[in-house]
Amino acid sequence: MRDMIRLFCSNCQRNNYYTTKNKRTTTEKLEFRKYCEWCRSHQVHKEGKLPNPKKN
Ligand SMILES: [Zn+2]
Repeated sequence: MRDMIRLFCSNCQRNNYYTTKNKRTTTEKLEFRKYCEWCRSHQVHKEGKLPNPKKN
């Protein structure tokens, strides 16, 4: 089962990207270097938890 995750800029802590991952095969935290429009530069984006989707 692939779960939705958020990617947060490690510099400004904003949620800029969404992705999915398979928790069975990918147990480590994801990190991507992506462009942050708030920082206006490439920053490391780290995985963060989505809020419970049943509440939305
Ligand atoms: Zn940023």
